[in-house]
Amino acid sequence: MRSFDRNSEKVIAQTLPVPSALSDSTPDKSLETDLKEGLVFTPILKEKNHRKIATDKRTNLCRFCENHLSVTFADLGMSPLANSYIGADALNKMEPFYPLHAYVCESCFLVQLLEFESPASIFTDYAYFSSFSDTFLEHAKTYTDQMIERFGFNTSSQVIEIASNDGYLLQYFKEKNIPVLGIEPAANVAATAIEKGIPTKVKFFGKQTTAELVKEGIMADLLLGNNVLAHVPDLHDFVGGMKPVLKPNGVITMEFPHLMKLIENNLFDTIYHEHFSYLSLITVEKIFSQHGLTLFDAEEVATHGGSLRIYARHTEDDSKPLTARINSFREKEIAFGLTSMDTYLEFAEKVRRTKRRILSFLIQAKEEGKSIVCYGAPAKGNTLLNFCGSGRDFIDYTVDRNPHKQNQALPGTHIPIYHPDKVKETKPDYLLILPWNLKDEIMVQMACIREWKGKFLVPLPEVEVIS
Ligand SMILES: [Zn+2]
Repeated sequence: MRSFDRNSEKVIAQTLPVPSALSDSTPDKSLETDLKEGLVFTPILKEKNHRKIATDKRTNLCRFCENHLSVTFADLGMSPLANSYIGADALNKMEPFYPLHAYVCESCFLVQLLEFESPASIFTDYAYFSSFSDTFLEHAKTYTDQMIERFGFNTSSQVIEIASNDGYLLQYFKEKNIPVLGIEPAANVAATAIEKGIPTKVKFFGKQTTAELVKEGIMADLLLGNNVLAHVPDLHDFVGGMKPVLKPNGVITMEFPHLMKLIENNLFDTIYHEHFSYLSLITVEKIFSQHGLTLFDAEEVATHGGSLRIYARHTEDDSKPLTARINSFREKEIAFGLTSMDTYLEFAEKVRRTKRRILSFLIQAKEEGKSIVCYGAPAKGNTLLNFCGSGRDFIDYTVDRNPHKQNQALPGTHIPIYHPDKVKETKPDYLLILPWNLKDEIMVQMACIREWKGKFLVPLPEVEVIS
């Protein structure tokens, strides 16, 4: 479900100073002054500051507007890559940890992590298979029906999905004989899609990929990407790649976790390294607009604790007027405070308070001699456990239905991952649900824990015990 620009390192490298630029740069003192005062966006100053920042803080720039980033949104300390599960052979080896520190841009309000690792190394053998979740499958089927009904796609339409994963969504368009194409950078998940008969290109999405598609005569009536926009380090290459491959009256839909819900429901565990941006409608509108695309509708969807689905078209396509709904979303975000820095600043303290409460609960449960195991091995669980410092001293093990994750260990905490049947064998007192967004589904699947009076635990927005 993730897509990247494999050339992102090259793009960053292009912003680094060339020797001649270094030799004529002004002293560091003025750099500090510039940073404190914020960047002034005249072309000359921008170029000058850009070059100087590149000397000292080369990646501390907003990935959209290139403003200098200095305001913390959430500092979750040092954490390993949330999806780097540890095999038995690696348990005794060194493990890389990176700062997990989200900033908010004072100019465009994009909440973001700095790029720290090449996307190719994170995503080419991705362990997440969407088809292992019943909820996502249901969501995909409903989406397909809605799109066909609203826009009248048929057997002569072309659907292209960015970060198509194992074909969990495109299979429903294929059932209706609508031509589909998946773009998926993780070779192992793409192979699963191809086995199912879903044509899939193993590629990162961006300007280069779309140029290749257009050359082959492939253009989209529907270009969609669910849970991918937030995972893109080079937003300009990614969003800039959409317009060329979209037919004149084509529609783009993108779903991403909604920043407003993250703040409102305290979902700081959805911050992890693979998730570069935390998006609001206000900011996404600015990004799309800069690339000749206009958002004409938006709606809330329930995935990942509250996502936003946006609908976009060519700016010059006047066949789809802006809906009242998109205007009211924009107003709602402003009323919530997404254009006020105070909203972002208050969040950091809320995160620290939540950590203390989770730890208090776990400590008390262990003092009472209770056993605690987890359900699931999602990326968000790894953020939570590492930030709270809750390893095997609190959690005996976790279980996951995905066989690709079983018999490995969680990154950082090294909590082992087993098949869900393990829970029946060990009869724990508490089952902590890490993918809280799927808690209803999981409580049905694991209803057996009630046989021994086991209880479910949901960590966020506040620790909750469900008997
Ligand atoms: Zn910005």
